[in-house]
Amino acid sequence: MERISWNQYFMSQSHLLALRSTCERLMVGATIVRDKRIIAGGYNGSVSGSTHCIDEGCYVIEGHCVRTVHAEINALLQCAKFGVPTSGAEIYVTHFPCLQCSKSLIQAGIQTVFYATDYKNHPYAVELLENAGVRVEKVELEQTSIDLLPAKNIK
Ligand SMILES: [Zn+2]
Ligand SMILES: [Zn+2]
Repeated sequence: MERISWNQYFMSQSHLLALRSTCERLMVGATIVRDKRIIAGGYNGSVSGSTHCIDEGCYVIEGHCVRTVHAEINALLQCAKFGVPTSGAEIYVTHFPCLQCSKSLIQAGIQTVFYATDYKNHPYAVELLENAGVRVEKVELEQTSIDLLPAKNIK
């Protein structure tokens, strides 16, 4: 079995987190990394302890579900909650960040955004990220890299 690359490892983690999403409109996962170490993770979900979209349906206003906190924001807030610096960190997200998340990532000092899937890439978000000097790179998840139970280990 080939050793998994850092990019595929962190992107896999984000896809795993996305499976925890409680809003089925878009299942997103985000992993914040510093010095090749995972410092936080998040997924699209309701405020802790409140109603989940998967239980009672989405709360849609003007085409958007307003119930959830986005994966990227949840990951940043986890850092805020536990006092972990995000300056100079990288983030791996399953989808291109929305405008609100892009603004927050810039403000939190995130230096690189790796995303797996293009998603309504907002031109203003693209412009802001570029002007802030944030490196944006597409890293698609390779199906072959997530073999958690390789045959040779099962004896
Ligand atoms: Zn929802
Ligand atoms: Zn967002």
